[in-house]
Amino acid sequence: MSVERTLTIIKPDAVAAGHIGDIIKILESNKFVIAAARMVSLSKKQAEGFYAVHRGKPFFESLSKFMSSGPALVMVLEGENAIARLREIMGTTNPANAAPGTLRKLYATTIEHNAIHGSDAPETAAFEISYFFPGLELL
Ligand code: ATP
Ligand code: MG
Repeated sequence: MSVERTLTIIKPDAVAAGHIGDIIKILESNKFVIAAARMVSLSKKQAEGFYAVHRGKPFFESLSKFMSSGPALVMVLEGENAIARLREIMGTTNPANAAPGTLRKLYATTIEHNAIHGSDAPETAAFEISYFFPGLELL
């Protein structure tokens, strides 16, 4: 295990519902350190670029619209094994299947409006961190 950085986004649904504080509280209690944070209002093009890996999928258009529908909080989190640990406490993509206590079980409403994003591998973390915070992908 080693110290890693990962990118998280508190998505527009969770920001609109007033859950920024609740989510950060859980992240901090799980020993994630916030290395950078920025409120963003993504354009549709920026959302498409961020989720480019999903281009062509049936939900891509709707996802890009959703992610550009309002303010979101983008953060770089640092900690031991941060990438996998964040994915664990987020829970599954579809909140209906998410384990009790996970962020998506607590705050997501649908498979699309699922409250939080987390990088899924070291390579995607590097791309996603550099998308919002160029240079910070290098530990
Ligand atoms: P994220 O990348 O946001 O952390 P994830 O890795 O759990 O989520 P992905 O498969 O990468 O899931 O999908 C990216 C996002 O696209 C999901 O978080 C969700 O908002 C949306 N999405 C995924 N699958 C569907 C679907 N079948 N219908 C609607 N939206 C979906
Ligand atoms: Mg993903």
